[in-house]
Amino acid sequence: MKELEQFGILEKDISLKKYNTYRLETEASYVLHPKDVGSLLSFLEFAQQNDVPYFILGNGSNVIFSDSKYEGVIVKLDLLNHISYEGQHVTVGAGVMMNFLALEIIKNGLSGLEWASGIPGTVGGCIFGNAEAYKTSTFEYLTTVTYIDKDLHLIKKEKDKLSHGYRTSYFKEHPENIIIEATFTFPKGTKEQSLELIRDRLQRRLSTQPLEYPSAGSVFRNPSSELASGKLIDDLGLKGKQIGGACISEKHANFIINIGGATGKDIRDLIKLIQEKVKEVYQIDLILEQETKDW
Ligand SMILES: Cc1cc2nc3c(=O)[nH]c(=O)nc-3n(C[C@H](O)[C@H](O)[C@H](O)COP(=O)(O)OP(=O)(O)OC[C@H]3O[C@@H](n4cnc5c(N)ncnc54)[C@H](O)[C@@H]3O)c2cc1C
Repeated sequence: MKELEQFGILEKDISLKKYNTYRLETEASYVLHPKDVGSLLSFLEFAQQNDVPYFILGNGSNVIFSDSKYEGVIVKLDLLNHISYEGQHVTVGAGVMMNFLALEIIKNGLSGLEWASGIPGTVGGCIFGNAEAYKTSTFEYLTTVTYIDKDLHLIKKEKDKLSHGYRTSYFKEHPENIIIEATFTFPKGTKEQSLELIRDRLQRRLSTQPLEYPSAGSVFRNPSSELASGKLIDDLGLKGKQIGGACISEKHANFIINIGGATGKDIRDLIKLIQEKVKEVYQIDLILEQETKDW
């Protein structure tokens, strides 16, 4: 599809290994990086008129791809990466990485994203799933979100008009909308205190999570604030259980890691096994936090 080149940087028949944190080897016909919002809108119009399948990908840190080739366009918003300041209000493109933003705002005397320093997701992806750590979520300091709706209108909405909860948001409930920009209002902070907090958070992650292996973070939501999925899986003796190249981490039972050559099917089969065992023993339905992309 020659026409796609006009909308931004285009990669053809490409491995998606570098575009998902599980490092699955799936391929796609196209990966498009739109130059700006205008190019994204033009692409969406073209896709609607020509029935071109597409989906929006952030940093691929919460998805489990199918093993078959994606015969469509994966749209990565990494070129929507502007950051601008107006006092404590910070406006960022949806493609900015949250862990980068956490460090960036500190340089401008702001704080409030220390919790996100270990989250390898984009602003768009983190708003979509309301990413959270250490009891602070993405919506905490969010003020407004600008997005494109299914009729290709640009809409700007205040946080209060956008539903959100534990690992969910209006955007997860209405995935036809595409987040392009967000404004946060952060509290003032001091560089030393923020960096100290970030060091502490990263240290805690390093000691409890298998960061040396590809993964997509926690696999399941916690059934309640008192009950951790990792504990249930650990108590069933499932740590180390392996299917193909996918393995339940010995370090953290709510992580599935790719120990080499894992396929999307290996991960899905391991998820199914965990869900069946937990249901059988505890009568609890574990809900997936990660998203399977089946095409
Ligand atoms: C080591 C590790 C640690 C992690 N720790 C945490 C943690 O502590 N807390 C936590 O909540 N998560 C954690 N995660 C999971 C993940 O990083 C987050 O869920 C993150 O928010 C996903 O962002 P992403 O850009 O990678 O989204 P992707 O995985 O690329 O996409 C996820 C979904 O969001 C949609 N989406 C992405 N961008 C947009 C957009 N601009 N507009 C509309 N829809 C969009 C996609 O279509 C997809 O449906 C961790 C992951 C890893 C690998």
